[in-house]
Amino acid sequence: MESQEGSSGNVLRWENLDREVLSTILKKLDVVDVITGASRVCITWFLASHNKSLWNTIKLNDLDWGSFEDTYREKQRREILIEINKFGRTAPINFFFSVHCNVLEEDLAIISTGLPNIRKLALPTWRTLKLKSIQSAFSKWKNLQTLIIAQFMRSGGALNFEFRTIADNCRNLTTIKFTYILDKELAKIIVRKLPNVERLSFRCATICGVAVISLVIGLPNLKILNLSHCILTETRYCDRAADMKYKQELVKFGAEKLEKIIVCCSNCTICENVWKYTIVYRSPTPEYRSFWDKQWKTDEIEEFEF
Ligand SMILES: [Zn+2]
Repeated sequence: MESQEGSSGNVLRWENLDREVLSTILKKLDVVDVITGASRVCITWFLASHNKSLWNTIKLNDLDWGSFEDTYREKQRREILIEINKFGRTAPINFFFSVHCNVLEEDLAIISTGLPNIRKLALPTWRTLKLKSIQSAFSKWKNLQTLIIAQFMRSGGALNFEFRTIADNCRNLTTIKFTYILDKELAKIIVRKLPNVERLSFRCATICGVAVISLVIGLPNLKILNLSHCILTETRYCDRAADMKYKQELVKFGAEKLEKIIVCCSNCTICENVWKYTIVYRSPTPEYRSFWDKQWKTDEIEEFEF
């Protein structure tokens, strides 16, 4: 290992660095780099890699990591998740998957078993997950407060059965972002099962006006509602885009009841791209991937940023 010479002429060695200082430096690295690189350098770095403060937030960012139908990457991802369990133990409270990560039942089983204290989770879905697996995973996350969930499945539709199972198990959810269709059924599930919800975001999703109204009326604790870059429809089947007058009346209604309702301005470029990239999602281009990667981590409500 390389060493550096101090001003007094003493030789300073990396392995002799104070472990807390070393942990602070390691915190700047991606968790995958800590697991596969830094922790294997020497015993001092290995021990510093286990400092709890490194593992509060697990952010799996790499765009190319474990996406789509790639069994090699699936295996690689699973090994990393098992290592995260070992390094993080009970420390992780925030867990953010990359938006392009094809999360499978086995992945959820590993992290829910090893990391029971998750409070904030970002979960993209590219494939239908069995309800039994969702039930098993989310039953271990009783303290989950913030959920960011997206659906990019080719069959379209909503995740209402899946979300109902999540809501049955995580009654402490107060802050939820959905990147998929808000229809009347989803609104009904939220109102019935999660009356304590305070913040909702449907950023970049297709939303039904009637469902929005039932959320505003039915959730007594709802404070902030983000409808930025949404495709608003009038009918319950979300099949007809609403006109500007309908949108203005809906926003006025929300503003009277809530602390804040967020919508975007006309000529919004993000809105244009939502339409564009929703239509071409069957064959993701680099632009598509980059667009959704950015939207995944961004929100006008700060609790959803990561
Ligand atoms: Zn917009």
